[in-house]
Amino acid sequence: MTVLLEAHDVRRVYRLGGGRVLQAVAGVSLHVKEGESLALVGESGCGKSTLGRALIGLEPVDAGAVLFDGENLATLTSRRRHALRGRMQMVFQNVHAALNPRRTAGDSIAEPLRIHGIGRAAIPERVRVLLDLVGLPEQAAVRYPHEFSGGQRQRLNIARALALDPALVVADEPVSALDVSVQAQIVNLFRDLQARLGLACVFISHDLAVVRQMADRIAVMYLGAIVEEGEGMAVLAAPAHPYTRALIDAVPRPDRPLPPPLQGEVPSPLSPPPGCRFHPRCPHAIGRCREEAPILRDIGPGRKVACHFPLI
Ligand code: SF4
Ligand code: MG
Repeated sequence: MTVLLEAHDVRRVYRLGGGRVLQAVAGVSLHVKEGESLALVGESGCGKSTLGRALIGLEPVDAGAVLFDGENLATLTSRRRHALRGRMQMVFQNVHAALNPRRTAGDSIAEPLRIHGIGRAAIPERVRVLLDLVGLPEQAAVRYPHEFSGGQRQRLNIARALALDPALVVADEPVSALDVSVQAQIVNLFRDLQARLGLACVFISHDLAVVRQMADRIAVMYLGAIVEEGEGMAVLAAPAHPYTRALIDAVPRPDRPLPPPLQGEVPSPLSPPPGCRFHPRCPHAIGRCREEAPILRDIGPGRKVACHFPLI
């Protein structure tokens, strides 16, 4: 499979005044191949949403580079930027985000088509095909957002995101606002669309049950950096990083009592701890961890970890 998206040492810093600097993304490198789904996993505030936006050029980067199909998003001409916008799309947690309450569903889905100069005559048929792709009937086109359930609204958002035939969709917590029963339907829809359209997907989630169903590969983020990366099932079955282990252990299971939770809160990204950023919460931390930051290194085929003492 060809590499579609590459991030090289991407950094995103927010200057908050008073000399305070928040490192939302602290040097992330990753890649996504055509048709593949990569899950970005981590607790809220770990930088995954900021990174997700940066991956499709919705957020500038302060250092490093994002390459889509070999083109650096930071140096595109405005014409290229416009052309590429349709090929990289975002789906948000908020199911109301992309739907105008005063417009019909069909109108909202048609908007990107109009902006990108698709002929008026071709639009109704394209809208019908898009609705069908996301499992909604043709008549949905003339209804308004309030007439749909949350799950149906997310289907409409996905239809709109697919309007210009993207190669990559970044989905930021796309099911976490939905009922659990509906979550599985939307996850299945994503998987189905990936298979049918060859769509690559960056799936941002804090929910490992969702990630398990969705991800070909997983990148685990902690305080703005990737701490572990690998094939989805391999990471979930045998995590190498103590933080990944703790995330997996925190998921309730019927066959065992919950192990003790991680100690402490996620430290503020305004003042990340020295050495390994996870050391204040890590049950395996020793002196070296407090002084020397582990780098993300290969520990097997396609498998990386940023820990001095990986668990495997
Ligand atoms: Fe824990 Fe040390 Fe590994 Fe960091 S480097 S995760 S503190 S064992
Ligand atoms: Mg977020």
